Amino acid sequence: MTSLLSIPLTANLPYRHIDDVFIDGQWQVATGTGRTLVTNPATEEVWGSVPQASVADLDQAVAAARRAFGGWRDLAPTARAGFLLRLADEVEKRAEAISHTNTWENGSPVAESGRAAGNAASIFRYFASLAGLLETADIRPFPDGSGETVVRQDPIGVCALIAPWNFPINLVVAKLAPALMAGCTVVIKPASPTPLSVRLIIDAARAAGLPAGVVNLVTGPGSFGDALVRHPGIDKVAFTGSTPVGRSIAGTCGQLLRPVTLELGGKSSALVLPDADLDSLSKVLIRTCLRNTGQTCYISTRILAPVERYAELVDMVTATIAAAKQGDPMQPDTVFGPAATRAQEQTVREYIRSGVAEGARATTGGDVASGFDQGFFVKPTVFADVTPGMRIAREEIFGPVLSILRYNSLDEGVALANNTSFGLGGTIFSEDPDRAFALAGRLDTGSVGLGFFASNHAAPFAGRHDSGLGAEFGPEGLKAYLVPQSVHRRIR
Ligand code: NDP
Repeated sequence: MTSLLSIPLTANLPYRHIDDVFIDGQWQVATGTGRTLVTNPATEEVWGSVPQASVADLDQAVAAARRAFGGWRDLAPTARAGFLLRLADEVEKRAEAISHTNTWENGSPVAESGRAAGNAASIFRYFASLAGLLETADIRPFPDGSGETVVRQDPIGVCALIAPWNFPINLVVAKLAPALMAGCTVVIKPASPTPLSVRLIIDAARAAGLPAGVVNLVTGPGSFGDALVRHPGIDKVAFTGSTPVGRSIAGTCGQLLRPVTLELGGKSSALVLPDADLDSLSKVLIRTCLRNTGQTCYISTRILAPVERYAELVDMVTATIAAAKQGDPMQPDTVFGPAATRAQEQTVREYIRSGVAEGARATTGGDVASGFDQGFFVKPTVFADVTPGMRIAREEIFGPVLSILRYNSLDEGVALANNTSFGLGGTIFSEDPDRAFALAGRLDTGSVGLGFFASNHAAPFAGRHDSGLGAEFGPEGLKAYLVPQSVHRRIR
């Protein structure tokens, strides 16, 4: 048994037990009664807590965002871009505290959380670079030549940003940066397991001089998120999280005719072609298929292998996963950490049990002891002989579990990849780039990686079907915070 209780307290954790929320440019004591505890998933130690804000706090936060909206909207886009660039610099100054707080909240290895600040800064800088798009006049003549229309792009207004726990910084910043660039003001609600790391983004925003009320942060449970979505002062909702909660938010926004962007779950496939180079695949396997201990929405957790290379592929995947270090997420060489929460650990174990019960063959891992005497660890597991009807082949597990299925013909491989209610990511592994590119068009999914997967801030990240509505990143992600206004005029 490995004990992690000895993790030294050298972590850079500026926030632990706090009482306040951020409203109208100030930290102020929340007036709600409950508290949410923050647990280190590697040690099970409760090391922090935040208040559950009241409806009165929520009203204040939305009102502050509403008051700030006019002034922020009326700034020139280049002036807003200047704030975003300063914010990027301030986030980078806080990189270590962001990384350590993130790791203590959700168990992401520091090799992962250590990139959070740099990635966030790069998202702010990318959206700052789009200021020109908001300044370019879009003038369209009437087809009969009788006049012209100036198409203006107005910011939508006050936005509710609701984030999950798997990437607590970047999934906030992916919404915050385009919202601010567009001229919107925001109220952020982080996930309950990860409410502290995002405070460092607020600190960065203050240091960057953002006007009071432009960014507000409130904490509370899922029901509080629901109250935020329904609040009459909210003009748009941006959400990342599970498909069931996304569906419920979509229903509410449908009733209210409130614009909404939803980034939801996934069950993506790695389609391995017969000519694939398995050595190259092994080098990107974990990043592509089990990033962040399998807690990433777009990863290719189903590997589709041609029957003639099935055994070889199973051996390579098994050996690669079995050799990767699992353990203390604060160690730089740790690849797999614990599950983020006890509930997530139990969910993943239940899926592993279902795989065994339905006849899949665990080639490493399985429902065995984790080898740690505390923490929410689940042994990384590879299942071979998976068939399309099994739950592990169909449902999002959100843990370190891979399923390997076999196909006989490329058409069957494509059909298997598309045999899912989701449509988020996917990868193709082939030594023939033209063939792989052509094949990407046959996958019914918002993004496809050829030989690797990474999201690009300059390109849309958009889920199809049960994976969501709308897009984040790219000019499309900025547009999600804008509404057009057509001003018709005669040509003089
Ligand atoms: P949820 O969808 O439950 O939570 C995401 C965010 O929404 C959290 O901030 C949560 O708050 C909030 N929330 C919960 N209920 C509501 C509601 N009715 N109205 C508005 N906001 C609400 O995801 P979980 O974090 O519980 O994860 C469960 C599963 O979701 C995972 O196992 C995984 O399959 C999937 N998931 C997918 C993600 C992705 O990136 N695609 C990300 C995270 C999870 P609170 O935390 O306080 O409940």
